[in-house]
Amino acid sequence: MSLLAVPALSDNYIWLCADAAGNAFAVDPGEAAPVQAALAQRDWRLRAIMLTHHHADHIGGAAELADATGAKVHAPIDARIVRADVRVADGDRIALAGSPFTFEVIAVPGHTRSHVAWFGHGLLFCGDTLFSVGCGRLFEGTPAQMLASLDRLAALPAATRICCGHEYTLANCAFARSVDPANAALAAREASVREQRARGEPSLPALLGDELACNPFLRVDAPALVAALPAADRVERFARLRERKDGFRSVPA
Ligand code: ZN
Ligand code: FE
Repeated sequence: MSLLAVPALSDNYIWLCADAAGNAFAVDPGEAAPVQAALAQRDWRLRAIMLTHHHADHIGGAAELADATGAKVHAPIDARIVRADVRVADGDRIALAGSPFTFEVIAVPGHTRSHVAWFGHGLLFCGDTLFSVGCGRLFEGTPAQMLASLDRLAALPAATRICCGHEYTLANCAFARSVDPANAALAAREASVREQRARGEPSLPALLGDELACNPFLRVDAPALVAALPAADRVERFARLRERKDGFRSVPA
């Protein structure tokens, strides 16, 4: 299987994946043109489109791509996503027509109320729920909902490759360092991401095992985070952490 992070818009990634015969699917195509270009370059045929949530930077190119290729659009149940051939919900196992790929749908409310993640083949496509060394903003959900969603993702196999919707990793590392300064795994991750970005490479996919060691939003029970964020319980601690990130501005280097 080939996996490609196609840069789109300002800092989005559209994930494109194909089997050896060139049957491909795309996740969260915020625009069509970069996907069309990547498909043409490799002689891949788009069989399916999977969406994680209704935001325009994740669905903006879906209808145009579906019209151009005949690919079926798979989307969560939300009227704000107008174009969909297959609606999906938590626990569904979706076999993508015309390809050998099957994915499990995991409901992950928090960033938006109908957000889903797609898990299969050792890959997790999680949109704006889990970022490398960060997590999405709470636009529609509560801290308790988002924490429960992240807990479900954290329980997947540690070797899972995390395919996030945005290249936010380096900025996330700066914030993570501010709340978890003695974390050696975090320092190592930041150094390697800095090198990847300097070479013009994506910092993604990330490994879930690394995220469990580095990502403060997956470490609300770790002693360092418990000490840094006084709170009555883990939900309150998570809420504090998310609020702190919302107000965080890194000092320009
Ligand atoms: Zn979003
Ligand atoms: Fe987004």
